Amino acid sequence: MPGQRYSGFVKLWLLPVFSLLFLMPLGAQWTQSLQFNSSDMALDLAEARTFQKYPTYNHYLEMMLDFATNYPEICRLDTFGTSQEGRLLLALKISDHVNEDEPEAGFLYTSTMHGNEILGYVLLLRLADTLLKGYGTDSEITTLVDELQIRINPLANPDGAYSADADTSLQHAVRVSADGTDLNRDFPDPNAGEADDTTGRAMENRFMMEFLREHRFSMSANLHSGEEVVNYPWDYTYDLHADDPWYRFISQEYADEAMAVDPTYMFGWPDGGITNGAVWFVARGTRQDYVNYYLGGREVTLELSMEFLLSSDELEQHWKINQRSLINYMGQCLYGIRGTVSDLDTGNPLRAEIRIPGHDSAYSVVLSSAAHGDFYRLIKEGVYDLVVSAPGYQSDTIKSVEVSDYQSTLLDIQLKPFGVSLAQVEEPAFRIFPNPAIHSFRVEPVNLSHGQVELSIYSMEGSLIYNNTHPWYGAGIEISSDKMEAGIYLLRCTCGTFSEVLRLVLLNP
Ligand SMILES: [Zn+2]
Repeated sequence: MPGQRYSGFVKLWLLPVFSLLFLMPLGAQWTQSLQFNSSDMALDLAEARTFQKYPTYNHYLEMMLDFATNYPEICRLDTFGTSQEGRLLLALKISDHVNEDEPEAGFLYTSTMHGNEILGYVLLLRLADTLLKGYGTDSEITTLVDELQIRINPLANPDGAYSADADTSLQHAVRVSADGTDLNRDFPDPNAGEADDTTGRAMENRFMMEFLREHRFSMSANLHSGEEVVNYPWDYTYDLHADDPWYRFISQEYADEAMAVDPTYMFGWPDGGITNGAVWFVARGTRQDYVNYYLGGREVTLELSMEFLLSSDELEQHWKINQRSLINYMGQCLYGIRGTVSDLDTGNPLRAEIRIPGHDSAYSVVLSSAAHGDFYRLIKEGVYDLVVSAPGYQSDTIKSVEVSDYQSTLLDIQLKPFGVSLAQVEEPAFRIFPNPAIHSFRVEPVNLSHGQVELSIYSMEGSLIYNNTHPWYGAGIEISSDKMEAGIYLLRCTCGTFSEVLRLVLLNP
């Protein structure tokens, strides 16, 4: 991931100047990386399947197909796009009832968006193999496969990896995509206030963004090389994520498990194998920030080898170091607060917002799924109040929810619908003027005189677009809708125990 080769300065800076002996292994590793050659590539599919050598592009395709063919009950292969040069962007889905969308948390591992950072590519192929072989015999793996919908994308930048050698070798792999884009600087940038928009981005990232939006993974990680460290949010700012303690907790667990196998691995970082992204170096447009900021996901960046083109001799040891950590990291997706939200009257699942006042920022709020009403709020242990809300329903506040690390707290929440349909409101407490509106509108009182009014605007799909609490003195509240797209929205006005939903039509050009 590093933008420049020497961005691992923190690590070197910590070493006493005189300990040049320690630097020698680093030097040796750089030399080794230069020696990556055709002998590091598998001669045939059988050798690729040992995970001791690197696969050619065709080996990769065959191995991915074989996973799905050999384990059809728990493994499916999906293509979610193509690269600029027409190579496939592939993801395995590994889960029980693999062809159904079940009420289970989504988890994603993805590697090698930097085409020359190839260790993670083989690690994820081997992880898929391990999960499939372990299902039904290894209880921990069986739980992961039963309880999660796991997706694995071993190679996010196949052109960067294989282009220079016509699919046969990784020897001349490069970091960037075919058009020269650094894919880990090409996602929407929260700092620039960019919209969640695929326009103008590299083809691989356009497909990746659509894939991520579709599945809304509860937890994910993307794998890189160039350092040995777990990098957690944010990359773009020194501000801490609302769930900073949780990120440090899960990152530390990853690093600790790896360092337990090899104490020299991830060595020398002040916080023990983990770093806040911006504290290491500020980067804009990273995948991690995109997922965490725009999609409400929980993603870290795993930097797993110093060398970019790691010698195949090192693959076995790097698997041994990371195997435990990769599995435990997935296990964290089972914990926190989870459950369902449904309609009290009908029992139908609801797409609702689960917010923790005083803790959450807009990006960290999670939503329950429209299909099943299930939600997953990963969080560090503690005691939290939850506010659960959905358009057309009375919000529910659940006080003092206790969360313990390595445990899940289950909540099944039923929301009471407002008794009247939108069309039947005869004496509304609020009105919108003008409605339809163009650039702005006012929310005006009809029969409420003062108090605190919470205004929430939802899309018809149930996404929360605006939320604010305004003091209410009987005058109207002016809201600019310049940045909203034309369409129909639901505006929920809550004042004390009274709540009302109004329909808002925007005609923005
Ligand atoms: Zn990278």
